[in-house]
Amino acid sequence: MSKQDKEQRHKARMQRKKEIVDKHIAGADIERGIIVVLKGNGKGKSSSAFGMVARALGHEQKVGVVQFIKGKWKTGEERLLGDHENIRFETMGTGFTWNTQDRSADIEAAENTWVHVEQMLADPQRDLVVLDEITYMYQYGYLPLEKLVDALKQRPSHQNVVITGRTCPKEVEEIADTITEMGDIKHAFRAGVKAQRGVDW
Ligand code: ATP
Ligand code: MG
Repeated sequence: MSKQDKEQRHKARMQRKKEIVDKHIAGADIERGIIVVLKGNGKGKSSSAFGMVARALGHEQKVGVVQFIKGKWKTGEERLLGDHENIRFETMGTGFTWNTQDRSADIEAAENTWVHVEQMLADPQRDLVVLDEITYMYQYGYLPLEKLVDALKQRPSHQNVVITGRTCPKEVEEIADTITEMGDIKHAFRAGVKAQRGVDW
């Protein structure tokens, strides 16, 4: 096939592709906020959520972040974004439940942190709310699931929410709009490599 023929075939294929893409774009005309669930055992859930935080802040949107589980040390994202004028950043700060080993203290901390979630999901000013590692609270039965489902259903219609955690309750998946599962193919930690500053935290 001559170079010219190749060019022509490519052009024709791209034209057909563009028609299909344009049709899909024209068909997706509903305007409302969505719920995104990032789950699974592979790395990338919280870092993807903070990618969306960066996007939203770049568009001058107002963002709320509530991090459950997380320890006392500050991650790169908290150091960078914690004081940003358009972000409200709350952390549970008690650390991993396998470190605290104190169920009633964990529940108390979870309930205190829930107050921020409830406020953010009711706040029409918040364009994006990230509930990082919140799913553990339901896995361990620390918080009542109905309250989360109700708050998600009743949130302002334009508000986007991102939920992360290894497993997600099916009641949340039922009302979610986008669900991505990160697959664990390989992780450096299992080969004995230390968690990396700037990559893992
Ligand atoms: P990240 O914050 O890097 O996007 P994540 O949110 O998908 O990770 P978490 O379950 O929240 O994953 O775990 C947080 C920490 O554990 C991160 O430092 C991450 O690199 C590490 N981690 C994630 N997945 C695995 C895995 N499959 N094996 C070992 N360590 C992991
Ligand atoms: Mg995470």
